[in-house]
Amino acid sequence: MRKTLISLGVLMREKRFVYMDHAATTSIKPDVAESMIPFLKEYFGNPSSLYSIGREGKEAIETAREQLAKALGAKPDEIYFTSGGTESDNWAIKGTAFSRQKKGKHIITTSIEHHAVLYPCEYLEGQGFDVTYLPVDRYGLVDPAEVEAALKEDTILISVMYANNEIGTIEPIQEIGKVAKEHDVLFHTDAMQVIGAVQLDMKQKHKDVDMLSLSSHKFYGPKGIGALFLKEGTQIDNFMHGGGQERGKRAGTENVAGIVGMGKAIELATANIEEHNEIIIKMRDRLLSGVLEIPNCRLNGHPEKRLPGNLNFSFEFVEGESLLLMLDQMGICSSTGSACSSGSLETSHVLRAIGLPPEIAQGSLRLTLGDANSKEDIDYVLDVLPETVGKLRNMSPFYNPGSVCEK
Ligand SMILES: *Cc1c(COP(=O)(O)O)cnc(C)c1O
Repeated sequence: MRKTLISLGVLMREKRFVYMDHAATTSIKPDVAESMIPFLKEYFGNPSSLYSIGREGKEAIETAREQLAKALGAKPDEIYFTSGGTESDNWAIKGTAFSRQKKGKHIITTSIEHHAVLYPCEYLEGQGFDVTYLPVDRYGLVDPAEVEAALKEDTILISVMYANNEIGTIEPIQEIGKVAKEHDVLFHTDAMQVIGAVQLDMKQKHKDVDMLSLSSHKFYGPKGIGALFLKEGTQIDNFMHGGGQERGKRAGTENVAGIVGMGKAIELATANIEEHNEIIIKMRDRLLSGVLEIPNCRLNGHPEKRLPGNLNFSFEFVEGESLLLMLDQMGICSSTGSACSSGSLETSHVLRAIGLPPEIAQGSLRLTLGDANSKEDIDYVLDVLPETVGKLRNMSPFYNPGSVCEK
């Protein structure tokens, strides 16, 4: 690779490529890609067919189902493959709504869910359902007592995400599940961000979760494949209608290679969660304390109850999208909760929900760590970020560190 030097103040440094957007997606692990290749090449047969190149595919699907079940502490029969996290969320929510609408039409969710949950809920409101969007505290925590207080006679579903993708806050899923069970309401959780970071156990710790959504590309698997855990005995309507695949519950010829890759990916991601978290947390804490030395900067989300790899900052007097673009020029991939669309600044619904004023929310930067990162990446970001923030502040008409108006 060609080496480029960049200048940082008086320093010259080698430009690096630093991927710090693991919450958006992750790179596929070599072993995962390898496991998929036979199912893209020789075993192309339809898994529903009876000859051997199809049967091989069918068997591989069942192996992957067992790998997922094992990783979740669930039964293989409780795992259904889908086209990804968005489909799993849509299926859980609309499938519950349509199958239980005679019983009731009220759904409880939160104001910080991913759009894959929020928009199906908004769609259902248009279909005559009644949705409560619970607020969160300033750290992004949902209060189980508020979930209980929001229950109505006709509540059929509670959907609360396991951990937030923007600010990393981990929700009290067990307590909320308990509330759901005590009131005989189905409980769904979007667990996209937690695979490989939190040990799941659907039989014990998470016994009150009826539905849980997964997405392979968030844990070093391929894109366009996901799963819904549907607890044994839970009846919801189908989302896809057609062939009899997935025991008649999810129609469509299976994405065999994707399923095989996801099976391998979940096995690898859940093999040593503790050790993996330790490595990530070490890097994160160094990055955190380094970034907090930048003046007028704060950490968003909960200080402890947060995903190991997630950091979300707000820098005053900085516009997030400009920061993201300048970091990109320095080879750093990040994310922001602010988008400048047609001249007006839009801030994320999550940052609004935790009560950040627009001028603070607009200067947000999400750095999410994962397998792609090393200690050198942290050093590099700590070299580049303060100077980049400084440059942007110097361009801001509102930033005035001295007494006289500076440029
Ligand atoms: C990524 C993500 C989704 C969407 O999953 P896809 O597989 O990309 O459709 C939904 N919810 C959360 C919390 C996510 O992080």
